[in-house]
Amino acid sequence: AQKNPNEPEFLQAVREVAETVIPFIEKNKKYQNKMLLERMVEPERVLMFRIAWIDDAGTIHVNKGYRIQMNSAIGPYKGGLRFHPSVNLSILKFLAFEQVFKNSLTTLPMGGGKGGSDFEPKGKSDIEIMRFCQAFMTELARHIGADTDVPAGDIGVGGREVGYMYGQYKKLRNEFTGVLTGKGITFGGSLIRPEATGYGDVYFAQSMLQTRGESFAGKTVVVSGSGNVAQYAIEKATQLGGKVVTASDSSGYIYDADGIDADKLAYIMEIKNERYGRINEYVAKYPNAKFVEGQEPWGIKCEIALPCATQNELDGEAAKTLIANGCFCVAEGANMPCTPEAVEAFHHAKILFAPGKASNAGGVATSGLEMSQNSLRLSWTREEVDERLKAIMEDIHEACVLYGTSPDGYIDYVKGANIAGFVKVADAMLAQGVV
Ligand code: NDP
Repeated sequence: AQKNPNEPEFLQAVREVAETVIPFIEKNKKYQNKMLLERMVEPERVLMFRIAWIDDAGTIHVNKGYRIQMNSAIGPYKGGLRFHPSVNLSILKFLAFEQVFKNSLTTLPMGGGKGGSDFEPKGKSDIEIMRFCQAFMTELARHIGADTDVPAGDIGVGGREVGYMYGQYKKLRNEFTGVLTGKGITFGGSLIRPEATGYGDVYFAQSMLQTRGESFAGKTVVVSGSGNVAQYAIEKATQLGGKVVTASDSSGYIYDADGIDADKLAYIMEIKNERYGRINEYVAKYPNAKFVEGQEPWGIKCEIALPCATQNELDGEAAKTLIANGCFCVAEGANMPCTPEAVEAFHHAKILFAPGKASNAGGVATSGLEMSQNSLRLSWTREEVDERLKAIMEDIHEACVLYGTSPDGYIDYVKGANIAGFVKVADAMLAQGVV
């Protein structure tokens, strides 16, 4: 805490890992006295830079730009870019730290990184977004590369933004390489990448449910968020027979007791992906649903909850409400949406709980598959990518079971994911010496 003042999110993420990894190190001689965790919490490199850009009215704006190159022991830095006014060093370091363990879990050769800006994309014109993305990439381009650091999307950065940044990178460097993932399908993007995080979250939840002889069929599912991850979590949960009754954004949530079917989801995608609008527009078209302003959906009765919006959106009280209402499976689609108090409540009640670094790893895993396809200069089919994604999520589940099963049979997915993620990175760092 002394070394990283004013970084509460980063300390929260480190504490959660340390609580499970330190006891493991104490039991395993080869990891002792090597300062492994101490080295892992210190980013290899932190880049901070000015982004100056001009809006449609001719006014000049200045934003902060960041890239955290956290750990490259097992592959090039890999992790998304976030554009949101809340972005700061603490949030990006927490995300980069989580990313190291997550990428290790995917079984693919990717190190960890994260970046972004405190830029607010809401209310900006398409041209302003383009100008900002170009200004951002003008600086970032000198620090990244297909074999060095490969950014992707995150909150506020989707296909449109990745496209603009890719165009600028290509212009500056005069090379067509897989330097960003989440690209459009016509210029090196992978099929299933947009779906991957949401689908992967549901595949992971399915594996968890199977450990108790359960499935999505006939279950009521509460989802938060209505962005990229939430949309495809809703789609896959519905395809597997679940009834998803909520979606949300930073203004509140909608509750649709009839379930958000494929047509209704298409409308959410239209609101969010085409008009960049607000979730309450849903109730204008579907008046049976209601909009609850300024609240999270955790008070709605369900068996399965998939938090897919942002960090610390589900606290201890919300967790207790979910459990009291019969919820027995929570799989994080977002990064660290559950507070430590919420996680403790889930563990105390012995319900199924998956941390994002395991259950939302499908996105970066598919980004890894996009990198492979770019290097091979070919494209795999939808089915091929989906099969690989499914297999990776099953492997991550297996790894969590291996390292996280308690003597009483309860699977602690937090412990499992942290230790499994740690082992691969630690072994690579040991082999590479003190560098
Ligand atoms: P999007 O920008 O597509 O969607 C984000 C959603 O979360 C929106 O509905 C947004 O509402 C809501 N949201 C964002 N900030 C807040 C806030 N402070 N309070 C309440 N709601 C908020 O992002 P993604 O779907 O890509 O990302 C969602 C989460 O998933 C993040 O935690 C991200 O790190 C994580 N993740 C994403 C991956 C990916 O592949 N995209 C991979 C792995 C993890 P509004 O529109 O009102 O801002």
